[in-house]
Amino acid sequence: MLFKGQCHCGAIRVELKTDRTPSEQILGACQCSFCRKHNARAFSDPKAHVRLIAAEPSEVQRYAFGLRTSEQVICRRCGVYAAMTLTDEGKVWSVINIDTLDDRASFTGVPQPRHYDEEDREARISRRKARWCPTTLIGWPTSAPE
Ligand SMILES: [Zn+2]
Repeated sequence: MLFKGQCHCGAIRVELKTDRTPSEQILGACQCSFCRKHNARAFSDPKAHVRLIAAEPSEVQRYAFGLRTSEQVICRRCGVYAAMTLTDEGKVWSVINIDTLDDRASFTGVPQPRHYDEEDREARISRRKARWCPTTLIGWPTSAPE
């Protein structure tokens, strides 16, 4: 199944390819301060595939904090938080904000609270590579995040 979505204005598009139905999907509620301020419902599945498309690359704002192992992707124009990405050795993984998808209402799983504060840098990167969605970035800006 292919699910499509976007930020509010369409500058950032999100595509999720998965074999599971929306109601079977497990959603996370990461307890970090960034995700709580957005009240984000996170989705990741290593068997799924994500495409993040910068329809308007100049509107893609990337933000890093804490251990700075990932980048939060926010639309500069409309303010929607779209995804979080990890890039390593040319490969990309991501967690997406499931509420960017057109079919968001059909993802009915109760988001599970997740606490990752105790992780060190290495543990965090290896968990993400194991659990996040393999991702293709399209039209993505190449500058460093702010
Ligand atoms: Zn936007």
